[in-house]
Amino acid sequence: MTGTVPLGGPTLAQERKLVTSIPGPKSQEWLERKASAVAGGVGITLPVFGVAAGGGVILDVDGNSLIDLGSGIAVTGVGNSAPRVVEAVQNQVAQFTHTCFMVTPYDSYVRVAEKLNELTPGSHSKRSVLFNSGAEAVENAIKIARSHTKKTAVVAFDHAYHGRTNLTMALTAKNMPYKSGFGPFASEVYRAPLSYPFRDGNLSGAEAAKNAISVIEKQVGAENLAAIIIEPIQGEGGFIVPADGFLPALVEWATANNVVFIADEVQTGFARTGKMFASEHFGIEPDLIVTAKGIAGGLPLSAVTGRTEIMDAPHGGGLGGTYGGNPLACAAALAAIETYEDEKLDERAHQIGETLKARFTQLQQSDARIGDVRGLGGMIAVEFVKAGGIEPDAALTGAIAKYCHERGVVVLTCGTYGNVIRFLPPLSIGDALLNEGIDIVVEALAAQS
Ligand SMILES: *Cc1c(COP(=O)(O)O)cnc(C)c1O
Repeated sequence: MTGTVPLGGPTLAQERKLVTSIPGPKSQEWLERKASAVAGGVGITLPVFGVAAGGGVILDVDGNSLIDLGSGIAVTGVGNSAPRVVEAVQNQVAQFTHTCFMVTPYDSYVRVAEKLNELTPGSHSKRSVLFNSGAEAVENAIKIARSHTKKTAVVAFDHAYHGRTNLTMALTAKNMPYKSGFGPFASEVYRAPLSYPFRDGNLSGAEAAKNAISVIEKQVGAENLAAIIIEPIQGEGGFIVPADGFLPALVEWATANNVVFIADEVQTGFARTGKMFASEHFGIEPDLIVTAKGIAGGLPLSAVTGRTEIMDAPHGGGLGGTYGGNPLACAAALAAIETYEDEKLDERAHQIGETLKARFTQLQQSDARIGDVRGLGGMIAVEFVKAGGIEPDAALTGAIAKYCHERGVVVLTCGTYGNVIRFLPPLSIGDALLNEGIDIVVEALAAQS
């Protein structure tokens, strides 16, 4: 950018403004440098290079201001460079940057653990442990469940996404782009069918759970099964909201069979769905809950929180990692959590969801290419199909996303069939920008006929 780059955060001009084509010339230069410096396996959704972000916008290196409907994949729920996060991190970075909690501990790690134990569903006694990424926390939740049950098998579900490390690739369902060519994968991972009302003929939650439990009993056996892991609302898989009763039936079966029930709330956690955790919508109290993305306003942090008797199963020294619960990330998390609570961002997520759902369900009346509009709070998806049926239309979805990107609206796609546009706006976005972003998506659909 010529001139000074403005600071990020909510004071950044809240507008969609394009001053070049997307990508602009400076972004194009950086794309060339990326191609010659960065490993080719790292893909890009929208090819502009950011220089500042906040509220509901991302400013790029050419001076374009884009509407952010993705939050860096559900991370900046409190907004980018949220004021309390900035202040907390600035103070901490000047104090100390690292000691390693396992060498000489510090209080912010303990405070984050206390906060997670308090906020996650259930009033039972809990403990927490901190890591860096969602995948790392998922891996550790499995370690803890195995240590507690002295069993080894793990069940994940169709359409699941749990990360890209070896064990989490095994748990993740989708081959391309996450797994292809990267095996062999961790053993003792099995897959059960999900409740996916739009694609399973609207099976009731009870029926879908019966099917899943039957597969688990026939193909694995409760006596071998350490844990069931599931996203309460699937993220990468397509924002699939299970039918009522599905999750409670799985929890009930797990409890009766000494199987640890793990909720992967990496994407759904921290006010995203209109409640602090999505599990609350379904009335379940998971044994273990895995969190990451929205936890720290953009700093890398993740956690496993759960029942004390399960969490305390591994031997002393059995859990940890050099950077897990890094002091900057913990300071950011405490500030972010305070922001979610003080600013009632769960209520804001609910309002955002109502706006998105109203617009797209109305449009669905007159456009048969919109197969399904679903989600909770600020986690809403539109599934696109060939008009009139349920055959996925990935080409249409890609064209809509491209149209939006060229006009300065950051939208993300997802879904096993690549036919879902997902909305994950920062909860700090204003109504005007949100509606302008939706207008562009609606226009994009109209342009593809
Ligand atoms: C993103 C995600 C992960 C992996 O988190 P990383 O921080 O990318 O390792 C795991 N589970 C779910 C549900 C996710 O959305």
